[in-house]
Amino acid sequence: MNRTVDVLIVGAGPAGLALAARLAAAGGAGRVEVLEREREAGGAPRHCHHGLGWDTARPLRSLLHGPAYARELTDTAVDAGADVRTGVSATGWAGPLTLEATSPAGLERITARTVILATGARERPRSARLVPGSRPAGVFTTGELQQWVHLHGGSVGRRAVVVGAEPVARHAVRTLRHAGADVVAMVTDRPRARALPGVPLLTDTTVAELRGRGSLSGVAVRHRDGRSGVLACDTVVFTGDWIPDHELARRGGVPLDGGTRGPCVDASFRTRTPGVFAVGNALRGVERAATAASEGAAAAPSVLAHLAGAPWPDPGPLLVVRAPLVWVTPNRVTGDAGRPLRLRSGEPLTCPVVTVEQDGRRLWRRRIPRPVSPSRSLRLPAGWTARVDRSGGPVVVSVA
Ligand SMILES: Cc1cc2nc3c(=O)[nH]c(=O)nc-3n(C[C@H](O)[C@H](O)[C@H](O)COP(=O)(O)OP(=O)(O)OC[C@H]3O[C@@H](n4cnc5c(N)ncnc54)[C@H](O)[C@@H]3O)c2cc1C
Repeated sequence: MNRTVDVLIVGAGPAGLALAARLAAAGGAGRVEVLEREREAGGAPRHCHHGLGWDTARPLRSLLHGPAYARELTDTAVDAGADVRTGVSATGWAGPLTLEATSPAGLERITARTVILATGARERPRSARLVPGSRPAGVFTTGELQQWVHLHGGSVGRRAVVVGAEPVARHAVRTLRHAGADVVAMVTDRPRARALPGVPLLTDTTVAELRGRGSLSGVAVRHRDGRSGVLACDTVVFTGDWIPDHELARRGGVPLDGGTRGPCVDASFRTRTPGVFAVGNALRGVERAATAASEGAAAAPSVLAHLAGAPWPDPGPLLVVRAPLVWVTPNRVTGDAGRPLRLRSGEPLTCPVVTVEQDGRRLWRRRIPRPVSPSRSLRLPAGWTARVDRSGGPVVVSVA
């Protein structure tokens, strides 16, 4: 079946739904369709059975509870007039702005005037982390665990090990306890991490092997100093280590950024493929749900401008980072960024001085008066982007 719509958004998480709601409510966008491969719209918050944090953009700073937040976003988009279709996966491209989609109803080709990738991010599974050993049952990422327990009512074992110490690890611990498991250790290769009450923390330690035939019997661990041992367990959860869900972008030849691994975008969420935008965690891995939603909403004016015939800009200078920084987003400068940029370090930093330069010219420099964690982004004010030479070399962000 071949169909046409005006706006095609892939992914009904906070970013895609917030954008759909804004576009549909604004009028002038025409038919706005959202494709979601899961049976329900709402994205990752559907299985986050905890408060998603304080939403400072709302009156009374209300606490966002995952499933309720997902429903609210979905209802707002639908009420505004967007067509949110669930159980439909976008699988590939049949043209620059034509997507192939599959659902129980069959295959379809949908051509749009603009395509928005809002496909989110996921934690790298055990296979991608190249952990040796057998392939027993009982191995999850946090997202898989939450879906298994909260969406499918599944059970887990009795003794669990959590690998990683990013903030999401505490959600893994909470979900495991909710499912009745005892968390026997949290393992991280970092030298320091915040311990959780009642959970032994092993720092400077890596998982060397998973053991067990059929079901997991233990996790072999190795400390940086050479000591090793086996933690007896029947469940292991790999947490953090996020990667944008960039499969569809790659299939469409949408250029990715080497740092974020998400589509390379400017501050207006335009990728380097004319007519294709990207928003939310698809851009760079996990941020707070409210951040992803605010990015979706912030993309609406540039999508509307594109639909009204605004030209797609020249690529503009690339934004790049020097180690230990790992990424910055947006990834290129085509105009005044307007919104703060996000910057991520690969290691903890103590009150670093951040410098932004282009062709040896300093655009901005400031000491950050607090420690910087690899689990959280740093926000850079955008004022200096107006001084970037559009025909100059890459803009380099570094720390000292
Ligand atoms: C385990 C976990 C715990 C978290 N805890 C918190 C927290 O405590 N506080 C907080 O603020 N945030 C938390 N987050 C982060 C928050 O959920 C995300 O920031 C937010 O959901 C990102 O929104 P998004 O729209 O970018 O992506 P997502 O919510 O991931 O939505 C993307 C959607 O796209 C769909 N999709 C992908 N590819 C396709 C395709 N090809 N075809 C059709 N559909 C597709 C997916 O099924 C998904 O529904 C957590 C996330 C996880 C995974």
